[in-house]
Amino acid sequence: MKTVHNFNAGPCVLPKPAIEAGIEALKDFKGSGMSVIEISHRSKDWEASMAECEGLWRELLNIPDNYKIIFVGGGASTQFMMVPFNLLENKAAYLETGVWAKKAFAEAKLCFGEKAVKVASSADKNFTYVPKGYEIPKDADYFHITTNNTIYGTEIHKDLDSPVPLVADMSSDIMSRPVDVSKYGIIYGGAQKNVGTAGVTFVIVREDLLGKVSRAIPTMVDYRTQIKEGSMFNTPPVFPILIMTETLKWVKANGGVPGMYERNLKKAALLYNEIDRNKMFIGTAEKEDRSLMNICFVMNKGYEDKEEAFMAFAKERGMVGIKGHRSVGGFRASVYNACPVESVQALVKCMQDFEQVNG
Ligand SMILES: *Cc1c(COP(=O)(O)O)cnc(C)c1O
Repeated sequence: MKTVHNFNAGPCVLPKPAIEAGIEALKDFKGSGMSVIEISHRSKDWEASMAECEGLWRELLNIPDNYKIIFVGGGASTQFMMVPFNLLENKAAYLETGVWAKKAFAEAKLCFGEKAVKVASSADKNFTYVPKGYEIPKDADYFHITTNNTIYGTEIHKDLDSPVPLVADMSSDIMSRPVDVSKYGIIYGGAQKNVGTAGVTFVIVREDLLGKVSRAIPTMVDYRTQIKEGSMFNTPPVFPILIMTETLKWVKANGGVPGMYERNLKKAALLYNEIDRNKMFIGTAEKEDRSLMNICFVMNKGYEDKEEAFMAFAKERGMVGIKGHRSVGGFRASVYNACPVESVQALVKCMQDFEQVNG
């Protein structure tokens, strides 16, 4: 198999042992003589797998007992609708920090109109920073944030203090750094960046927040449905859950979340240092808000015409997925948990070599 450095934004690089275990389970699940996609999800073997997955989440994130975790379909995008359906009675507050945050807000507005309010936005500077100094309305049912802005490369680095339940889309930074789950009402995300493959969505929810809205909630939209049935009210996405379990086992074997954080700090420092040193490139996000997961940069002034040349140069050296999102341009290197430090070193070397020849 060809060796590449995979900087895709999601789906993205996954731990090799998780993929290997997935292949094994597709062939023969736990010695059953059947593939994991052929077994009954009501079988003892599968029940043990679900329990293992939940156990790993609880252990790795120190999830308190009054929080439930469920695994559902629909991606993080479906949570943009499910969160307000479950929590919004009078008012919901949103922080607009990028494309995904905008979509979450738009969905709440679509469903509940003026009850969804925007508290602050960084749209004025093309989402290159995280707003600060805003006030969270005390009469809101919740305050929604997107902790990592996957497209523009900014991140909320600490757990915010909020007078109302904090709801966080952590699709692209879950398990990348320590978080204090007890400071959140809900944490959700699609698995396909840091914890597995597309097809499963995790939702961690403080149980006492549920059952407070006066409207009827459709069965599959109501978090209590899956909480009550251990995410098996209907057929769960077994294969994505298995890949998630194997990915979390790898996280655990590599120092858990603190271990990931240490690796991620190191990788991000390597690449940001090069962006700041190399005269041909410049970072797009405010320094204090720079994401550890998605590192965005463009050609510096005077070198704008070298963008295509660098893309070709990098591609030749095995770099994959470094093209920036169309709304930012330039380059984006996504350096999720499973991205090895060697890949970041290779990209840094590539930038240095390019400067040697073209700078
Ligand atoms: C990728 C991403 C999403 C979308 O996730 P889906 O599972 O594809 O719906 C939402 N929010 C953030 C922050 C993301 O990075």
